[in-house]
Amino acid sequence: MASSPTAAEFWTRVAALGARPAPNSTWAGPLAPVQLICRAGHRCAPRPIDLKEGQGLCPVCARRSPRSAEAKFLARVAAFDAQLAPGARYVNAHTPVQLICQQGHQCAPRPVSLKQGQRPCLACNRSDSRKAV
Ligand SMILES: [Zn+2]
Ligand SMILES: [Zn+2]
Repeated sequence: MASSPTAAEFWTRVAALGARPAPNSTWAGPLAPVQLICRAGHRCAPRPIDLKEGQGLCPVCARRSPRSAEAKFLARVAAFDAQLAPGARYVNAHTPVQLICQQGHQCAPRPVSLKQGQRPCLACNRSDSRKAV
């Protein structure tokens, strides 16, 4: 099993994914599930060998795939030349995210409305419709 991860590799990978060991979790070899708490706070117990193969560690997160939803949201934000306000972060599709639009307005669109093709910023929306008419 030349490709088995070592404990050090495993913990590095866990840290890179934003997870941390659950209390009393122990390394018992690459095939033994290790109790972890994922970056979203879920208890999970991935096998080190699965993690090494690039799988996510948390099945709950994998199902919800918040990372890909977040990535899509951030791509839309970038497409509007807006940026996240300091300290703002994506929570989920229905939670408004503080942004600073292209024109420097503070706005807080819900990711789901951006997904439906709306612009992030109400102030810009208004001036745009004036221009368009
Ligand atoms: Zn999770
Ligand atoms: Zn604006």
